[in-house]
Amino acid sequence: MNIGAIEAGGTKFVCGIGNEKGAILERMTIPTTTPSETLKRVVEFFEGKNIERMGVGSFGPIDLDPQSMTYGSITRTPKPYWSHFNLIGELKKHFSIPVAFDTDVNAAALGESVWGAAKGLDSCLYITVGTGIGVGSLTEGKLVHGLTHPEMGHIMVRRHPEDTYTGHCPYHGDCLEGLASGPAIEARWGKKAVELVDKAQVWEMEAYYLAQAIANYILILSPKKVILGGGVMNQKQLFPLIREQVVNLLGGYVHHKQILEEIDSYIVPPGLGDNAGLVGALGLALKE
Ligand code: ADP
Ligand code: ZN
Repeated sequence: MNIGAIEAGGTKFVCGIGNEKGAILERMTIPTTTPSETLKRVVEFFEGKNIERMGVGSFGPIDLDPQSMTYGSITRTPKPYWSHFNLIGELKKHFSIPVAFDTDVNAAALGESVWGAAKGLDSCLYITVGTGIGVGSLTEGKLVHGLTHPEMGHIMVRRHPEDTYTGHCPYHGDCLEGLASGPAIEARWGKKAVELVDKAQVWEMEAYYLAQAIANYILILSPKKVILGGGVMNQKQLFPLIREQVVNLLGGYVHHKQILEEIDSYIVPPGLGDNAGLVGALGLALKE
């Protein structure tokens, strides 16, 4: 069976054709411009490919309530032109097949649990640290939703004693995303994250924030695996720093060997690498 997969991002849309085994057979990347221009190219890619179902993991916030009049749309985003655009409605106009829809990070969490670093587990967290910070959660075999969907990238964190940067989240200022996303690192230090590799203080501060968030997520959700992806996590030196600080913050209270003895295999990079989002979208289509 040919399955369509879309990782819809604020910078680019990645489209793919895959199969039941999680393999991507063909893919194409389209820059995210206006909704009409972008969707025109997406539709052209899938036309004539004989796809029987489709899965879409999208940037957000998105409307995931099947009872809602605006189900399938991007709700309110600072990204020009995209607020209130009904992404799923538009796709359905062209393809009369089942189309599954969830956040990009929920899709990635699902993909990782079926084919990646959390394979075989009924619970994991997928955290992306990139232009923004987003978190997807699989709990007791289900992707977590509620009133809308969780927005765990925007939690409040304790400020690093030496950090004077005000934070850049347009909604909250110094929430986690405001202090620890790629653009926050760049604004605080005056250079792109990738140019700050040798500056230990940058990564110590970054780990300080991410570790607090992860410790909180562990306390609230008790995930069986914590997966960290996104552009900033290309800085592999962050992993040992984060693991150490998570263990310290939890203070031995969460009494499980994964945390007390096996933290190296508990907080890990994505098993699917950069494909987590696209393969996850494939997973959404199969789960539908
Ligand atoms: P997006 O979040 O837009 O999908 P990415 O996950 O690639 O895209 O995140 C982009 C952010 O990650 C940018 O702020 C960029 O500075 C940062 N970034 C990308 N590559 C690296 C790297 N190798 N090291 C550190 N930061 C990086
Ligand atoms: Zn915020």
